[in-house]
Amino acid sequence: MNILEVKNLKNYFHTRDGIVKAVDDVSFHVAKGETLGVVGESGSGKSVTHLAYLGLLPSPPSKIESGNVHFQGKDLLHMDLESLRKLRGNKISMIFQDPMTSLNPFLSIKTQLMETILTHTNISEQDAYKKSVEGLIQVGIPAADKRIESYPHELSGGMRQRVMIAMALLNNPELLIADEPTTALDVTIQAGVLELIDNLKKQKGMSVILITHDLGVVAGLTDRIIVMYAGQIKEEASTFDIFNTPKHPYTKALLQSVPRLDTTKGNRLLSIPGLPPDLAKPPTGCRFHPRCPEKIDKCDKEEPQLKEVGNCKVSCHLY
Ligand code: SF4
Repeated sequence: MNILEVKNLKNYFHTRDGIVKAVDDVSFHVAKGETLGVVGESGSGKSVTHLAYLGLLPSPPSKIESGNVHFQGKDLLHMDLESLRKLRGNKISMIFQDPMTSLNPFLSIKTQLMETILTHTNISEQDAYKKSVEGLIQVGIPAADKRIESYPHELSGGMRQRVMIAMALLNNPELLIADEPTTALDVTIQAGVLELIDNLKKQKGMSVILITHDLGVVAGLTDRIIVMYAGQIKEEASTFDIFNTPKHPYTKALLQSVPRLDTTKGNRLLSIPGLPPDLAKPPTGCRFHPRCPEKIDKCDKEEPQLKEVGNCKVSCHLY
């Protein structure tokens, strides 16, 4: 059963320099209990897609041009703002890259956790406090009953990220959207935080969307991966197929830039030449053609469509 269905979503930014097609005809789904990875460089639309249908982008300049988005059968794009706000803190939760931008530096962790619960439920302050401490224990914060009195700046980066995860899970969401949840953390702490998200997902049976620029992050955690480039989906496949039989030249290039113990030893890591395009003036034809090592004649003239190729979906003239 699909918990989230996004069909032909277009979200553009209307700026003085022109219309930026940040999300351009994007369709995907997330099944119940599934972890979906969304991968791409900065500016690929991987975060904007989710911020758009959750109503978290300033409008103007952002505008949803067309498409359908249903969460548990409810139409998110035509929902009133109050219902959407309730859904966001309750059934759908988000974790962002930098907890300092999401945690209020002037309020204690206790106040912020309890507020999250009290805004969305009718339980007493005493029960909200108990639930907040339990939330911190669940994400592995030692001496949770003491740490809960701290202010964000008194905690390490890893601890703050754990607090963010606790906060996101307090109301038992059905869908957790984790946007670069470990990018701001050092490597030793990254693995612990990712494992924590995975364990909590399994315990609670929720679905997860894991957004990252780093294919290495999604390797052991996701069931399926969507690769985005310049506001469009370029490839969609199971995690196994993406890593073992990547089809799209952009997916292959991303994989070549990820260090792998089995294949990288002794070989150079490659970076993708060139830069992602300006989406106010995207290239004609395939948006990846200026950087593609496999382009053919029609690539700069005709735009490829996302189509089924075996078990995958690929948008490329080679298929
Ligand atoms: Fe490369 Fe052409 Fe495929 Fe685009 S359509 S990825 S330019 S081969």
